[in-house]
Amino acid sequence: MSFKPHGKHLIAGTWVLSEQKFTSDPAHGPAHDYCVGTPELVDQACRAAEDAFGSFGYSSRVDRAAFLNAIADEIEARAEAITEIGTQESGLPEARLQGERGRTSGQLRLFAEHILKGDYLDRRHDPALPDRAPLPRPDLKMIQRPIGPVAVFGASNFPLAFSTAGGDTAAAFAAGCPAVVKGHSAHPGTGEIVAEAIHAAIEKTGMHPGVFSLIQGGKRDVGSALVQNPMIRAVGFTGSLVGGRALFDLCAARPDPIPFFGELGSVNPMFLLPHAIAARGAEIGAGWAGSLLMGAGQFCTNPGIAVALPGADGFVSAAEAALTEAAGQTMLTDGIADAYRSGVARVADGRGVAELLGTACTGRNAKPYLYRVAARDWLADTALQEEVFGPLGIVVDARDADEMAEVASALQGQLTCTLHMDAEDTDQAQNLMPIVERKAGRILVNGFPTGVEVCDSMVHGGPYPASTNFGATSVGTLSIRRFLRPVCYQNMPDALLPRDV
Ligand code: NAP
Repeated sequence: MSFKPHGKHLIAGTWVLSEQKFTSDPAHGPAHDYCVGTPELVDQACRAAEDAFGSFGYSSRVDRAAFLNAIADEIEARAEAITEIGTQESGLPEARLQGERGRTSGQLRLFAEHILKGDYLDRRHDPALPDRAPLPRPDLKMIQRPIGPVAVFGASNFPLAFSTAGGDTAAAFAAGCPAVVKGHSAHPGTGEIVAEAIHAAIEKTGMHPGVFSLIQGGKRDVGSALVQNPMIRAVGFTGSLVGGRALFDLCAARPDPIPFFGELGSVNPMFLLPHAIAARGAEIGAGWAGSLLMGAGQFCTNPGIAVALPGADGFVSAAEAALTEAAGQTMLTDGIADAYRSGVARVADGRGVAELLGTACTGRNAKPYLYRVAARDWLADTALQEEVFGPLGIVVDARDADEMAEVASALQGQLTCTLHMDAEDTDQAQNLMPIVERKAGRILVNGFPTGVEVCDSMVHGGPYPASTNFGATSVGTLSIRRFLRPVCYQNMPDALLPRDV
């Protein structure tokens, strides 16, 4: 049976109405009315989160693991309804929503396992040395403790895996932090049904209802009130450079600045090394086109530029042929489709840029574009470095290995950098490694960066503007670190220690 959203916010276990409404704008299917969030409701949710932290912050890992698994179960119990409303709102294909749901429940379960193992606590102990001269040493124990209520911004491009019960919320819950989620107005119904699943898990496991609230969006003051609320201790965000930077600045300007873990923009460059391109340029070019087209290019890991050396024409024509055959795809929102067209225009007007594939897309429809530019011109026009959110690729032609290294050095921070190489390219790759290692959170060889594995070793972050905190990742178990802080306990009797020490 289809899910019929009621359009309310969920604040600490109660579904709440607010006066003003907005109407959703689904890619297909019926539109619904949703309550617009307000700063007052944000405050109510944040106070409830702070209240919940008193017990949740001291809950056992076993209890939190049960809670995370219960959320995953409740999401799976609503699988069909989630896929239906998710595809309607986002325009993404059913298979994508199904896969993303699996990733969402999978990462909740992964965090449950992770906290049960306990390594993340990074327990340290320096026993007392009462006879040490000249001064005795006290007993010192250190452990990672939850930071407090966390604000989470639902991402437009991942209605499940980076939204209401997505990676940020899962990491916060795993750490012992309540979460206040600001829903993305591109998928308010998906947000509502997932909130219903979290609510059911709270009731099933007896958690304090304030551990989770969902405030629907609709107005800018919801986000700014949330990051400025004195109860909030950290923020998880995925979105635009402009929006993320505005919220980051608000966090820094607070009387008590808090960390803003923003994942903003990245062009995810690929470096095409000569032996690999001579041996299998066409195959790599077709693979690149497939990666660019995935999800209509609306991935933060979309590989927007390919840096080539002379001899890459086979690569370029294979990419062009594969992109030419691509059908139009529906973008997530009208705003994102408009931003895509502006990005296309910016690249097309760039210094020395030649158009290889120029298509026409209107409304919420996206078609691919392919451009080619000499490295000299790319280096001189910084606008060509900016992320274009959509299926647009730029081939940057370097004259030689030195110029390729110059392009690498000029890059801003990236989520990923990719080397396409054969064994004979090893020397050149070795020269590039110290450069790209300083630019990106993840470096790939002979692959495509779209498709981010959720696991212990994943790093989804990188120097600014890829993220606002390059010591962190927003995917994988290490992302729990964002919501923890080390506390040292000196000469503390056991009765006063948190139970995990
Ligand atoms: P966005 O505009 O940055 O919005 C993300 C969230 O932040 C929304 O909840 C939005 O609220 C809020 N927000 C943005 N600016 C704000 C401000 N100044 N004050 C308070 N709240 C603010 O991102 P989007 O809507 O997802 O997509 C727009 C563009 O972002 C895309 O075209 C793309 O370029 C980029 N994007 C990049 C990635 C990536 O992974 N790199 C992912 C998604 C989007 P409202 O909805 O209420 O405005």
